[in-house]
Amino acid sequence: MKTKHYTVHNQKLSKQDLATCTKLLQSGELVAFPTETVYGLGANALDPFAISKIFTVKNRPMDNPLILHVNSIEMAKRYVIGFPPIALKLAAIFWPGPLTLILQKNELVPDEATANLSTVAIRVPSHPVAISLITACDFPLAAPSANLSGKPSTTDGWHVQDDLEGLVSAIIDGGKSAFGIESTVLDLTSKIPTVLRPGSTSIRQLEMVIPNVIFKNKSTNKEITKSPGMKYTHYSPKAPITIVKGTPLKVSKKINEIANEQTGILCIKEHAHLYKKGQVIVLGSKNEPSQLSSNLFDSLRMFDKLKVTNILTEYPDYGDLKEAIVNRIEKAAGGKIIKA
Ligand code: AMP
Ligand code: MG
Repeated sequence: MKTKHYTVHNQKLSKQDLATCTKLLQSGELVAFPTETVYGLGANALDPFAISKIFTVKNRPMDNPLILHVNSIEMAKRYVIGFPPIALKLAAIFWPGPLTLILQKNELVPDEATANLSTVAIRVPSHPVAISLITACDFPLAAPSANLSGKPSTTDGWHVQDDLEGLVSAIIDGGKSAFGIESTVLDLTSKIPTVLRPGSTSIRQLEMVIPNVIFKNKSTNKEITKSPGMKYTHYSPKAPITIVKGTPLKVSKKINEIANEQTGILCIKEHAHLYKKGQVIVLGSKNEPSQLSSNLFDSLRMFDKLKVTNILTEYPDYGDLKEAIVNRIEKAAGGKIIKA
């Protein structure tokens, strides 16, 4: 398949490009597009055949349900049974934005989109290109991260091209994603609101609105979680990753002992000078924690480019999105953690 390429200028697509991409989506094709979290692999969420292409292209396990992207609370209401007051309250505050709500689905949502669950994941993205596509299509877009399953999510146009060139009808390049980490998935169908996946809406932000919210970090827990997608290996670059935990001096000492010239080392700016060997990638500064999340997947993909043979990483649990950052790193490492 020949992939068409489109470029975003000032957060917008040209009228003509928007019309072409809308047509592709209307005819059941896949279009990768930017969102404020990560790039999405978009398809008509109401069309089982279009949905099946997402699973085939990504090689995504069939029991991992998709998120429906809509343009408003009104549009979300079309696909759920009831919209409880708590959902209204959260949506009024956090939409458009990186919060996905799990609600009871209605019969318009195909079982293929929800992996046969009776619930559906739904959110309103804030990226103007995502909103303009949804509005032009007037159907929800299923849009899981635009990467091959198991690999790091895509947060820049070249990441998408690396994974999906020749496999999708179009790629819309909107440059670097603003957040760089997926949405927070919040289950509103359980008795107590429960975070199933930490993401770019922080636990603290949620607690300000729903103080009883539950979050248990299950990224290293082998038990099957309620969010089917959370049980799979994710976000992994080619080389195996090991997390090294401890005080900065002990961690750097340990890493300097184990590392060789082909080792990739992921650290924060404040510790970069401590590493004596290997290929060091600086994730960002702990004083500007938004850098840590926005650079995470790009850094993992850069290790592939550097052809490192193993990766040792610090445990960057800083800032408001720390749960999301460490969740992704722990999953990328497949739970391999050593104490310095
Ligand atoms: P992504 O591939 O980043 O779009 O991931 C979607 C996430 O939302 C995965 O972790 C899914 O397991 C989760 N998800 C989607 N639909 C549901 C649902 N109905 N119930 C629970 N989790 C869901
Ligand atoms: Mg994903």
